Amino acid sequence: MKIAIAASECAPFAKTGGLSDVIGSLPKALAKLGCEVKVFLPKYSVINEAQYPMRLDLSIGEMQVRVGGIPRTVHALKSKLPNSDVDIYFIDCPHYFHRARIYTSDWDEDERFILFQKSVIEALQRLQWAPDVIHCNDWQTGLLPLLLRDNYGWDRLFHKTATVLSVHNIAYQGWFPRESGYRAELRQEHLDKGGLAEWGGGVNFLKTGLATADVLTTVSETYAREILTQEYGYGMEVVLKWRKGDLFGILNGIDDETWNPQTDRFIPFHFSAENLEGKEKNKRFLLDQTTINYNPDVPLIGIVSRMVWQKGFDLIEREVYWLMQKNAQWVILGSGEDRFENFFNWMAHEYPHKVWAYIGFNTELAHLIEAGADMFLMPSRYEPCGLNQMYSLRYGTVPIARKTGGLADTVLDWDEYAYRGQLIGNGFTFEEPSGFALSHAVHRAIEAYRNKPLWRRIQQNGMKRDFSWTNSARKYIEVYKLAKAKRS
Ligand code: ADP
Repeated sequence: MKIAIAASECAPFAKTGGLSDVIGSLPKALAKLGCEVKVFLPKYSVINEAQYPMRLDLSIGEMQVRVGGIPRTVHALKSKLPNSDVDIYFIDCPHYFHRARIYTSDWDEDERFILFQKSVIEALQRLQWAPDVIHCNDWQTGLLPLLLRDNYGWDRLFHKTATVLSVHNIAYQGWFPRESGYRAELRQEHLDKGGLAEWGGGVNFLKTGLATADVLTTVSETYAREILTQEYGYGMEVVLKWRKGDLFGILNGIDDETWNPQTDRFIPFHFSAENLEGKEKNKRFLLDQTTINYNPDVPLIGIVSRMVWQKGFDLIEREVYWLMQKNAQWVILGSGEDRFENFFNWMAHEYPHKVWAYIGFNTELAHLIEAGADMFLMPSRYEPCGLNQMYSLRYGTVPIARKTGGLADTVLDWDEYAYRGQLIGNGFTFEEPSGFALSHAVHRAIEAYRNKPLWRRIQQNGMKRDFSWTNSARKYIEVYKLAKAKRS
């Protein structure tokens, strides 16, 4: 099967969150299962060309792609996804993509991704490569299914090409004023009230994709159910209501070469489910670099996250005095909203022997925390899939998580399952988004930690589970087949 994947992030080239990990891994897993895959990504100036060999693709050549009536010169640079034979094309248009960040709040943010989406289609035309499926991801590629059918509908090349849209986070929708629709050259009827692209008088890129892609997916089964509700749907539940039959939840896998405690190049001591000695050494190594003293009897709670409301850190804020009375140490890594950065800095300042915080983005430290911490806290208000709890499970770092989205699908509460006589729990979960519920789950984890054989069992339950991409990639192929069937 021929699959084109278009996205705004791809690890290791351009990364802000989980989407990039998916786009960095899924194509390789698909290729291993026999698919022919091409990935498309904007050529942001933050991508270090010296680090990744890329060359101008001469068969695509120089394209003039129109946005808002103005033709822009676009090239495509070709490279490979690291450690694979999968082609990746970087859509190069300095006018739009040479900015300080991947995403901006510049006035032409919509134009940047209109250009990207049209360029992907035009690059496929130049390559004369008709994919069976174009797999779009999030709002940045939400217009693509409609553009393909409408604006490029004249091209027979795409007559059998189906589209799949994956939602990685439904809260980010790309909602712009109506003019945006003119810049994309969408037909007037799509912009009128009730039109395919219209939302609240403007244009909503994600909604357009949800309404027009042949098949929809999101990144966990629980999240697929949650986004049909008003609480989690951010308005899109209205659209999804009539696409329910076309919506599938497929849990993300993890890159099990990068995130493997037996080979991880960022950690000093390797370990496995059978031999956890190295884990304890990593804990000591990690704590030696902080203000906290190593103590094998006190559990270390790790946090690695974007610091935004979604992640539920306000629950820690509310409960901080209680949490600080508990016998645990905390290592925190993240960056984001001032409110949470300041809060964690305050915590570290107020409780230097218990809490250490690093505000920033640091991949090496993220690996070290996963390897060295005993527990990993994710109190998310919503979590489409979440990768860190899966890394944690793999690293024997027992997750404490709110039971939502992908967290609910991967973290099994020890006590809940033990109560039913099933000793398969691999973490601790809580349902209600309250400080009390969070605190109670932390308390249960600390209590369990005191019983070493029990703790080992919980750790090993998590470490044994298979989170490889192969499983998920097989499910994507099934979805691609469904989408394709709609076009033949
Ligand atoms: P989201 O996509 O909502 O940010 P995920 O758990 O799906 O959450 O993915 C987050 C990814 O980003 C993980 O790979 C995580 O390790 C990484 N990450 C987040 N914040 C940081 C940080 N401050 N430093 C290093 N890595 C980070």
